[in-house]
Parts: sequence; C-alpha cells; structure tokens
Amino acid sequence: MKLRRPSWQGLTLALLALAAVLGAGWLSFDASERQGTEALRREANHQLELFAAAVEGVIQRHEAAPATVQLSPEVLALLREPQSAARQAAADLYVRRLNAHLGSLSVFVLNERGLVLASSDAGMQGEDLSFRPFFLEALSGRVGRHFAIDARDGRPGYFVSHPIHDGARVAGVAAIKISLEPINAAWDTLGSPALLADSNQVVILSSEPAWRYTRLAEPSLEQRIDLQLARLYAGQSLPRFPLRVDLRIDEDSQVLEGVLPHGLRQGDGAAPAAAGRPMLVLGRTLNGMDWRLLMFSDLAPVRQDALGMGLLGGLGVGIVLLLGLIVQQRRRLQRQQALAEANRRLQREVAERQQAEATLRQAQDELVHAGKMAALGQLATGITHELAQPLGAIRTLAGNALEFMRRDDLASVQGNLQILTRLADQMGQIIQPLKGFARKSRAQPVRCDVGQALSNALFLYDQRLRQEQVTLQRELEPGQLQAWFDANRLEQVLVNLIGNALDAMQGREGRRLWLDAGRSTEGVWIAVRDNGPGLDEATLGRLFEPFFTTKAAGVGLGLGLAISRDIAREGGGELEALNHPDGGAIFRLTLPHEPRTLRPAD
Ligand code: ADP
Repeated sequence: MKLRRPSWQGLTLALLALAAVLGAGWLSFDASERQGTEALRREANHQLELFAAAVEGVIQRHEAAPATVQLSPEVLALLREPQSAARQAAADLYVRRLNAHLGSLSVFVLNERGLVLASSDAGMQGEDLSFRPFFLEALSGRVGRHFAIDARDGRPGYFVSHPIHDGARVAGVAAIKISLEPINAAWDTLGSPALLADSNQVVILSSEPAWRYTRLAEPSLEQRIDLQLARLYAGQSLPRFPLRVDLRIDEDSQVLEGVLPHGLRQGDGAAPAAAGRPMLVLGRTLNGMDWRLLMFSDLAPVRQDALGMGLLGGLGVGIVLLLGLIVQQRRRLQRQQALAEANRRLQREVAERQQAEATLRQAQDELVHAGKMAALGQLATGITHELAQPLGAIRTLAGNALEFMRRDDLASVQGNLQILTRLADQMGQIIQPLKGFARKSRAQPVRCDVGQALSNALFLYDQRLRQEQVTLQRELEPGQLQAWFDANRLEQVLVNLIGNALDAMQGREGRRLWLDAGRSTEGVWIAVRDNGPGLDEATLGRLFEPFFTTKAAGVGLGLGLAISRDIAREGGGELEALNHPDGGAIFRLTLPHEPRTLRPAD
C-alpha cells in the first residue's frame, strides 16, 4: 500500500476522533468522580452521624448532674456555714460519692467568689476558679458549659456548671468536669482523620495529635481577650489549623486539596503524605452546643477509580472508533478487490474482442481476396482476348523475321524486332495492373491519385467498353485530385462499381457511363453513374448484403458491393447507392482527404 500524504480531511477526522476519545474519557472521569464522591459523602455522613451521637452521649450524660447538687442539704449547709469542719466533711463526702457514682473526673462546689468549697478532688480545695466562664455563667443564674484544660494538672475536660440557689439568691455554683477520653478512644471507629472543635473554634480533640490545640479560625480581639482571661487552654500557643476549612459546612461537604499530617490513615495504597491529597470535608454541629465535629475523608481512591473509569471510557470509545476504521478499511479493500476483478474481466473482454477483431479482419481480407478473384475470373475472358491479338502478331512477326534473316534482309529483321519489343511492352502493360490487383494485402492508406486509380480501373474494361459501345463521360484525369486511401483497394472498388454499371446496362440502348469526382466537406467523392435500369426498392434495401445478387449463378457472387463498402469504411470513407432522377443508378464513394486522426474507440 502506498503511503498517502495526510489530507486536511484526514487530519480533521483524526482530531475529531482524538476529541471524542478525550471527551469520553473526561465524561467518564467526571461521572465516576461525582458518583464516587457522592457515595463517599453518604457513607461519611452516616459515620459522622453515629459519631456525633456518641459524642453527645458522652457529654450530655452528666450535664444534669450539677443541677442536682443544689438539692443536697449537705452542700447548702456548707454554703451557709463555710467555716464548719463537720459541714465541710459532709459536703466533701457527698460530692466524692456523686463523682464516683457518675464516673466523672471531678464534682465540686464553689462559693459566690469562685473559691472551691467542696470537691471530690481534695487537691482543689480553696482553688480560685472565679475566672472560669462556667463559674461566671452559673453565677448569673445560667448553666455554664465549656471545654478547658485544668491549670493545675494540665488535664483537659468538659466543665458544666449550675447555680446553687439559696432562696432567691445564688449562694454558690456546682460544677462537674467530664473526661473526653472516651471520645478520643473512639476516633478509630471513623476510619478517617477527624476533629472536635469547641465554641472558640479551637480543636480540643482530634484523631491526629498534631491537630490538637490548633485554631480553625482567627479570633477577634475581643475573643482573644476573653480567651486570655478564661485561660481555657492553659497557655497553649494555639497555632493555625493547617487546612483551610470552610466552617459553615454542615449537612453539605467541602472538597479541598491539602497535606494531611504525617502518619495519617489515608486509605490503602496511599500516595506519600507529602503530596497534596484531595479530601472531602464533612461537618456536624453537636446538638445543643456550638461544638463542631469535622471529618476529612480521603478522596484519592475515588479520584483513582475515576481516573480508571476515564481511561476505560476513552479506551472504549477509542476501540469503537478503531473497529469502525477497520470495518471501513475492510469495505474499501473489498471495493478495491471488486474493482480489480472488474478490471481483469474487462481486460479479458478487451483481449477477446481484439482477438475477434483480428479474426474478422482476416476473414475480411480473405473475402476481399475472394472478391478480387471473382472479378479476375470475370475479367479473364476479356484479358485473354486482349493478349491473344498481340500474341498472334508476335508469332507472325517472329516467323517473318526468321524468313528475313534467311534472306539476309537485316533491315526488315530489325523492323520486326522493334515491333516485337513494342508488342511485348504492350502485353506487359496489360498484365501489370492485374498483378497488383491479385495481390493479397492489408490496407495501407497513402496519399493516392484518384484520377490514376480511375485510369487503372478503366484500363481493365478498355476492350469491353469498346465492344459494348459504352459512351464514357469522364470528368477526372490523373493528377487532379488526391485522397488518403489504399490505392490498390480504391482501384478494386472502382473496378467493382464500373463492372456492375456495365452489367446493368447490358442489352440496353445508348449505354452511357459517367465518372465524376470532386471535393466536399467530408473529403473526396467519386460518383459512378450509369443509365441502366436503376435500383428498385427491394434491391436498394439489400444491395450491400454479402451474397446478394440478381445475376445468374456463376456470373455474380453478390460480394462486390459488400466488400466495396467494407473497404470504403475501413479507410474512413463511405459507399452509398441512389437512383438518378433521369434513371440509372449512381454509386457515390467518399474518401478522406487527409489522414484522419484516430478516434479513441478504434
Ligand atoms: P454481383 O455483382 O456479384 O451481383 P454485387 O454486390 O456487386 O454482386 O451487386 C449486387 C447486386 O446489386 C447486383 O446483382 C445487382 O442486382 C445490383 N446492382 C449492382 N450495381 C448495380 C447498378 N449499377 N445498377 C443496377 N443494379 C445494380
């Protein structure tokens, strides 16, 4: 197969195919990523829901405990008589028991100045917690609750407080510190990095130790001062959280690229942690408090799956296009094969036709020759007569010459020999055209003299014309008109036409033969006219048919005109017959004047 230069059309098609492959790849990737992300979101949301419920359980389980403390007469008694050691012991016992019963970190009571009066933890006794927001809240008659790190032992916890009323007055504050360790121990159930931030947007718990005590948002100046005062995080520097998280996300989710802290669980086959990874961030606000639970699901597997689907999609379309191309090529090949087959058939047919033509031409040549022989036969009688006369004269002259020699009359011998020579020449001239006429040859068009051909043909009928007293009206002499034709064959046609004319006029009065010629737009024309009976309708219709003759058997073969027309046409001319208005037939032969340019069909 030849290498073709890429055409614009081919290039465009290739680009379109590429676009289709890329488009299909992108669409598959996009659809798969969407679907994967959606599935991940649903799954993660469900997990988060469960986890949030667990967190709420841990926190809210003991929220009501401080409220019950004010019901304790021991605590009230201590608040009324803080100096009494007995009341102190009773109240301490109560809060210790309560703490043990609840399993909280500590339960304690503060007086209205924020000093610890009674505590399950003996070490807290007398501690000033007046700066803690939970104390201030409860003092104002509300429930206080927040996360804080214990300044004393550095242990974090969730503080819930409740005012203790003595009549209408707030006499003190009951508080409980709840451990958040159960939450910390449960991160594993999520399977993805997650964090819990308190109302100050500070991460208080996280599956990732590095995230703990980082800030999700920059606090306002006011908040900063409040934080300073409350000392909730025990002097932690609170750096910025490493990822830009949209804090409004709740039911919805956020997709972000970022670097997860080293050693995170990033799903199977994860890329090195240093590379930015796509993450799906889901958020939840815990019931009844403004704490936020955030979960960071790894999107990389989803992306990988989507990439696979994208490749598959592109590959699918590519394969379909390739199959289409193969089918098209196959069809083209089949068409080419069919074309080649048709070509071969055509060539075979052409060869057969050429063979048939050659056979026909040969047959034609044979026929022409046969026609000539028939004409020769007809002419034989006349020629024999023509030769008989000079032959008799030669015999007499030769005999006389012998006699003159005997008498030594050399002058007479010389005279006789001269006459003999002339007679021999004359006989040679009679035979000469016959030789050429009888030669079996192929047509060879040349520039030939029409007048000369006419003379040669008439020569053969010289004697007959005289014998039958035919008046010859000849308008064309040698050297006047030329045609592009085989001279031999032209003579043969003329011999035929003249012979037929003489035959037709036989036995009629005032026989006349007109021979005329000239130039026309088609070339050169020659007309042979007689004043015989002319051509009746039936004869006109069949004149040129081979073997059509009205002559007696042995006289006419019926080939003369058929062969003559064939000769005319073969040389690019035509032979037609018509009746002259004054009676008699005219045969009009047209011949090319110039070599004709070959038509492609020939
Ligand atoms: P043939 O001369 O052997 O019969 P031709 O093909 O030459 O064959 O002629 C066919 C017939 O055409 C003749 O038999 C004759 O009837 C008719 N024909 C030919 N030339 C003339 C003519 N000049 N006038 C009348 N009839 C003619």
